[in-house]
Order: sequence, then C-alpha cells, then structure tokens
Amino acid sequence: MKRIFFTAGPSQYYPTVPQHLRFAIDEQIMSISHRGDEFMKIYENADSGLRRFLGIPESHKVFFFGSATEIWERITQNCIEAHSAHFVNGVFGERFAWTAKQYGKKTTVIEAPFGKGFDFVNAELPEDVEVIGLTHNESSNGVMLNMEDVHGLKDRYPEMLITLDVVSSMPYPQIDYTKVDVTYFSVQKGFGLPAGLGVAIISPQAFEKAGSLVKKGIGTGSYHSFAELEKYAQKRQTPETPNVMNLYLLGKVCKDLQNKGLETIRTETNEKAELMDSYFESHPVLKPFVDKRRDRSRTMAVVTTGGTSQKIVDALLEQGIEVGLGYGQWANKHLRIANFPAHSKEDIKHLLHALDTLSSHL
Ligand SMILES: *Cc1c(COP(=O)(O)O)cnc(C)c1O
Repeated sequence: MKRIFFTAGPSQYYPTVPQHLRFAIDEQIMSISHRGDEFMKIYENADSGLRRFLGIPESHKVFFFGSATEIWERITQNCIEAHSAHFVNGVFGERFAWTAKQYGKKTTVIEAPFGKGFDFVNAELPEDVEVIGLTHNESSNGVMLNMEDVHGLKDRYPEMLITLDVVSSMPYPQIDYTKVDVTYFSVQKGFGLPAGLGVAIISPQAFEKAGSLVKKGIGTGSYHSFAELEKYAQKRQTPETPNVMNLYLLGKVCKDLQNKGLETIRTETNEKAELMDSYFESHPVLKPFVDKRRDRSRTMAVVTTGGTSQKIVDALLEQGIEVGLGYGQWANKHLRIANFPAHSKEDIKHLLHALDTLSSHL
C-alpha cells in the first residue's frame, strides 16, 4: 500500500520529487564531478532558486551544510566568542544551547515551560550576549513563535545576532531578513526532500562576526567555516564533495514552490491548520497540546491522546497513514502531525476522516 507521511521529518516528499529524481538518474547527476561546470549550474540553481522563492536579499550569504544539527555547531564556532542566550521551551532549543556548551561557551537560558510561549517583552538579556538562539517552531511540542516577537528582539538588541531555527516551519514564516542574522533549516521537512542537506541564510553582520573572530586568532572551524564556505560559494562550489543529488532536487523544488507562490502556500497552510484546529478543539478525546492559539504551530499539529498514541499510530498505519508519536517521554501521550506544502487540503481531510473511524482505539 502506498503510504502518506504526516511525520515531522523526514516527511511526505513534495509531489514533483519523483519526476525530478527520474530525470536526475537519466542525466547521471550522481556521477558528475563537483568541480565541473555541470555541478556549478546545479549549485547556481539551488542558490538562486532559494533566493527567488524566499526573497533573500543579495547582501545575505546562502551556505549549504549536512543538516541543521551541523548548523548549530557552525553558528557556535563562527558567531560566539564567549556568550550566547537561548530561548528554550523544548528539546530542539535546548540542543543548540547544549552544542554551545560543548564548545565551552557561557550559555544563558531563558526558559518557558514545555508547550508554552515566552514572555519576550519582559525578557532581559545580559549586555555581553553575542548570539540569541530562537526556535521558530519547537517540533517537540508544537509551540510556534510570532515573527513580531522575533523582529522585536533585534530592535531591542541590535548588537546581538538573532539566529532562527526554522527547520520545521520554512517556508511558512514571514521573515524580515534585516532582523534575523542566521536563518537555518534542513530540507526533509517543509521542503519535502530527502534528508542530508542543511541551509543557512547569513546576514552581513553575522558574516562579519566570523571575520572578527578570525582576526582575533580564534578558530572558526575548518572546511565549513563561514570564510571557507564563502571562498567556494564564489566559485559556485562547496569545500567538500556535497550532496549533489539533493542540491539538484532543491533547485528544482524551489522553482515548483515558487510557481505555486509563497503567499498561496502560506494561505493554504493556514487553512489546513484551521481544519485541524477546529477538528481537535471539538474532539471528545484528542485535544491541542498548546492551549493558547497565539502560540500554536501552523505547520505541525500536536495533540494529546491520554496514553493511546501508539495504538492510534498503528491503526492509522493500516490505512496507509503515518503520523508521528510524541517526542521522547511524550511518545505515547502526544501525536505530531506535519502540515507542510507537500500535504494537500485533501490529504488533511483524509487524515481527519481516518481519525473519525478510530473511536474504538481512543
Ligand atoms: C528536525 C529538527 C532539527 C534537526 O534537524 P536535522 O536535519 O536532523 O539536523 C532541528 N530543529 C528543529 C526545530 C527540528 O524540527
């Protein structure tokens, strides 16, 4: 049976991926040199595809990595000399703080309870903080930040670098790139691509920070330091042999997404989120985990099950539908349901209808 994946990531592939993959095989993309003209065109298409689709300013760099997890480490090496601050209300925000700690950085953590938003207005940061770590969509519990709050932090702390994890929300958030210094994601979630590729959008301020660390004699890493990435990006190449196939697919899917239109994608995302919101708000058992609508993710529904998540997941699987369990200790208490551009409104309706048939499992 053909399955549909509502899992958080890897998730359902974007509908055009099979045709692009077939073409890539016909063209023998996986065998070409990463130092040749053919590859440079693939790099150029991925870079310009992202820039056009997302409206990334020319002043900003676009760098490619192996994953978002890697990007936490690269931000730590290239942007933090001594002190970072992290807004943590779940597992992924915590993981970035942990990464900075492994490098001996001082980390100030501003906490909110699991599943709650932050009181940004009253948050006070120490003056010597260099980097602020934010998770736009906390995939472990479905809290989504408001972009006005994110931009407001930059207004209050213009000297600090704002870093925004948009792994499980891109391309949904409306980002003012003059107010976010490192915007980063991996492609197996909202972009509907295979895993193994991370993207970071770097502001001039963040890029200069890396340069100032180098000038002070502080190591910023080796092959994936910002300086090294920029040196190769100028040549439309990467320092290492990269994930050529995925860069190829990214360029293609960015074009497809752009043809659909970012505004249409956002509107549809809101409509699908609304379908799920009203369904779960009136469901006798399954309830939205994030109670305040203002803090609730639009790109991932997280619902409480009262301890029957595994049963529900198994029963849905019999109908060819994969949804995610809760994260870690919440595995059997929550369900996580992705709402990405690859998921159509019909897909969401199909899932909600399937849930209707499961009442005996609840
Ligand atoms: C999945 C996820 C990550 C990690 O992404 P990888 O591609 O596995 O490195 C980081 N942050 C958030 C919010 C995520 O959902």
